[in-house]
Amino acid sequence: MDEDCDVPERNCDDCGRQFEGDVRMAPVLFNGTWRRLAHSRELLCGECLMARAKALELNITLADLRPCEFNADWFEEFADKAPREIVMVWLKWARLVDENYRLWQKEMGLAPTVPAWASART
Ligand SMILES: [Zn+2]
Repeated sequence: MDEDCDVPERNCDDCGRQFEGDVRMAPVLFNGTWRRLAHSRELLCGECLMARAKALELNITLADLRPCEFNADWFEEFADKAPREIVMVWLKWARLVDENYRLWQKEMGLAPTVPAWASART
């Protein structure tokens, strides 16, 4: 899986809160969108990211989210506001990413995991 999707043991670089409970890590964005909001090495919670986006009058949509398993947490929230075409394209991409991941797991002799969201919304 993409290294950007790993969950590091750090707190939000902005508000300093730990990632637990309601404090979720910000969705993984495409680099272009992320750089407009944060430094590439910065780690933010969802609230801080959204606050910055709002301050810059930047509307983050599903199209800005990278299709990876990590973003499955955010998918429902963004999918509700996204046009259906974008939702379909995102899911298609996410499934490809997921398929590659499962192939990798198989090759590594790991037990396959199928995230629940990958089979939803078909
Ligand atoms: Zn924060």
